[in-house]
Amino acid sequence: MAPNDPGMQLLSKLLSDFYRKSNAYFPDRIEEREFGIGDLERKIAYRHLQFKSNEEFRKHMIVNAPPYVSCSSAYYHFPAGRPMSAKGWIGSELIFDLDANDMQLDCQKVHGGSWVCSNCLENVKAETLKLIEDFLIPDFGFSEKEIKVNFSGNRGYHVHVNSDVIMRLDTDARKEVSDYISGNGIDFEQIFREEVISGSRIRKLVGPRPDENGWRGKIARKFITIINSGKEDLEQMGIDKSIAKKLYEKRALVEMGIRNGNWDMVYIKNKTDFWKSVIKKQAVAQSDRIDKNVTNDTGHMIRLAGSIHGGSGLVARKMAAYRNMERFDPMKDAVAFKEGQIKIRADTKNVLNMNGKEYGPYNHEVVTIETAPAMYLYLKGLAEVVEAIQ
Ligand SMILES: [Zn+2]
Repeated sequence: MAPNDPGMQLLSKLLSDFYRKSNAYFPDRIEEREFGIGDLERKIAYRHLQFKSNEEFRKHMIVNAPPYVSCSSAYYHFPAGRPMSAKGWIGSELIFDLDANDMQLDCQKVHGGSWVCSNCLENVKAETLKLIEDFLIPDFGFSEKEIKVNFSGNRGYHVHVNSDVIMRLDTDARKEVSDYISGNGIDFEQIFREEVISGSRIRKLVGPRPDENGWRGKIARKFITIINSGKEDLEQMGIDKSIAKKLYEKRALVEMGIRNGNWDMVYIKNKTDFWKSVIKKQAVAQSDRIDKNVTNDTGHMIRLAGSIHGGSGLVARKMAAYRNMERFDPMKDAVAFKEGQIKIRADTKNVLNMNGKEYGPYNHEVVTIETAPAMYLYLKGLAEVVEAIQ
């Protein structure tokens, strides 16, 4: 897109106005953060930037109106220092990046990877809630106050954990965290063992109990949920029909056994191998699809919460509390450009749902629509701007 493209000129004006009026894009300890600024071609074209105050940063944003702004997860004594070792690392937040494109959703086969539909947004929201409610709070013991969530601005969520305990963790320690959440560290060989019942020659299969901590408890609780939800759910885990039927019919007995760590209440041939393979499959579904490179990197630059995403024109909106995600609708609550209309020439087979209205499909036609959906289509490369009608 050329600088004299009317879309580009309009975008600059909209961004500049946004950063003049908003007060929700200043990170804590701003003077200790490294910033990166991007254009439409490169999300981070310049980095090693430092701002001494919110107002200095605001001025930069009003004048330059960059389509992308990133901020370090780290705090530094000298954020502008180069190379990285000259920055004087103080510590880094623990961050998680969840993107609908990593979820391998069926809808993406239909609409492609650059489009985002409501199914994409619902799935990535569920995955983010799972990260917080199944891992960060129960297994790592972070408090709700230490967990900050923001919409990524396009098709995902970012989670920032700010706690003294994790600030100084190095890359190897962060890798252990991301491996745990991705289910990489589970030792399936150790999860079940055969034990001889005393006074007999019977060997029972001892496995995880639901009241245990960490993955063992997670696995046992989830299996109890699955066995109670029906034969089909068991079959979906690759269990063959006759065994699924038997397990389901005896579910009360099986559950009682598992609660005591006894996974041997129903006769199954090659029981140890059988349960290991079932639980392996189940754990894959229970793990969380985070971008591990982001979590492991102590110097990672991530989209500044509260800034605008240059691929959508939506705000990387911060949640006051993570629970607010449940009712958060990005296509309504993250809309930034609320005034005026734009005449665009649009070409897309997809239907855009925004602010409760539908736009498209468009067959290379000229239409006049509200600024936010028009810029969304423009930034997705599906429309060109003909004229702004403010
Ligand atoms: Zn989708």
